Amino acid sequence: MKTIPELISEQKIFFKSEKTKDVNYRISLLKALKNEVISNEQAIYHALYKDFKKSEFETFISEYGLVISELNLAIKNLKKWSKPKRVKGSILTFPSASYIYKEPYGNVLIIAPWNYPFLLALAPLIMAIAAGNTVVLKPSELTSNTARVLTKIIGNVFPEQVVVSIEGGIEVSTTLLEQRWDYIFFTGSVPVGKIVAKAAAVHLTPVTLELGGKSPCIIDDSIKLKLAAKRIVWGKFLNGGQTCIAPDYLVVKSEIKQNLIENLIVEIEASYGEHIKNSKDFPRIINQRNAQRLDNMLNDSTIVFGGDIDLETCYLCPTLIDEPELESEVMKDEIFGPILPILTYDTENDIDKIISHFEKPLSFYVFSNNKSFAERMITKYSFGGGVINDLLIHFGNHRLPFGGVGASGMGAYHGKHGFDTFSHHKSIVKRKNWIDPPVRYAPYNGKLKLLKTLFRLFN
Ligand code: NAD
Repeated sequence: MKTIPELISEQKIFFKSEKTKDVNYRISLLKALKNEVISNEQAIYHALYKDFKKSEFETFISEYGLVISELNLAIKNLKKWSKPKRVKGSILTFPSASYIYKEPYGNVLIIAPWNYPFLLALAPLIMAIAAGNTVVLKPSELTSNTARVLTKIIGNVFPEQVVVSIEGGIEVSTTLLEQRWDYIFFTGSVPVGKIVAKAAAVHLTPVTLELGGKSPCIIDDSIKLKLAAKRIVWGKFLNGGQTCIAPDYLVVKSEIKQNLIENLIVEIEASYGEHIKNSKDFPRIINQRNAQRLDNMLNDSTIVFGGDIDLETCYLCPTLIDEPELESEVMKDEIFGPILPILTYDTENDIDKIISHFEKPLSFYVFSNNKSFAERMITKYSFGGGVINDLLIHFGNHRLPFGGVGASGMGAYHGKHGFDTFSHHKSIVKRKNWIDPPVRYAPYNGKLKLLKTLFRLFN
């Protein structure tokens, strides 16, 4: 078996051959990947079910379907995206033609998390390949069945010099981060994001960091609570609450809190039945360590629904927490599980105290029919992206860049934004020679007036 440095050195040599600069070659790779993903569809569902009892429906809607969409989009648009783009000239470049060339960075490292283990490995990988890079993928060790399927798919499609999947945990990740890369794309937690950023800084390697945080969801009293509750239950408890853009906590107008809680309970039971543990649609916590971490959050909490936990089988019931203190365990870090704290407000000042207590979140949600209130909320606070009157769905529009800001990450991807992320945008001016305006050349004496006039006319 080859060592990590050997694999990377082969990828470096292959990239230098310029084969990946051929757009038709990239398209053929993406088509082959699509075929292989399609022929492994059932194996993918099985793997995710084995890893954390994720249902076929949820795997399709939140992983498989999105991967196929990204593949289709890249295959269809790659020729257009990768063409040099002509832009207007300026007074200083006249006469000439200006272009932006899209150039692959080179050798890319992608480190993926476990919570959407198929999507968050392949979505960046597709755009890295589309942009003409070679890729080393490190899937999460916590979803070992999915990691095996990913390695098999990648091994069947790509020569190792182009893409290779290297499975393993922190040790492998650390060795990978010690190597020199041209781009690193990391999805995962904030603490590990900092480790990645430090490792990248050694070689001044550009990074995208897709991290997490405590994403709020504000609900005012102008909204129909039944519909809001339905959408909140879907968005919070999808994937067992283990979604980076899930609302971490609710901030609800005091007088409607009780009514909202009743609606949430109705919707939880409508979605997963009275015996949620038996529901085929509700996934498990990824491992016992995380189940224990979530259990600790319940200790000092006022549980108004749920709280049922089975550490042995990593089951935690959808759980509603009433009015936790900002300093309590459940409000300290990103929850990343099916626990939903419900905080209240009377004034916008109260909202501000809560939101400003935390770092810039990855997502932000407002349920309100009051347009000016909703607009004020989404413009006042800084966050990665958000939705008014629903949850998560901004993730599903490839025309919107997806990424965090501040502590929730840097950089963005999805659709063409992903292609652009993995491309260096190289500025080129092609100078014409039929005229050579003398104004810029020394001696400058007497030319400044003319120069100022030209600037005024052409700016
Ligand atoms: P994680 O940071 O523990 O692990 C992510 C990856 O980093 C894994 O492949 C893991 O093997 C590797 N890793 C772990 N510790 C490492 C270390 N010390 N050094 C080097 N590599 C290491 O994250 P996770 O638990 O897999 O995922 C959950 C986190 O990811 C949450 O915080 C969630 O919000 C975030 N997330 C963000 C997005 C997004 O798109 N912004 C998407 C999914 C998850």
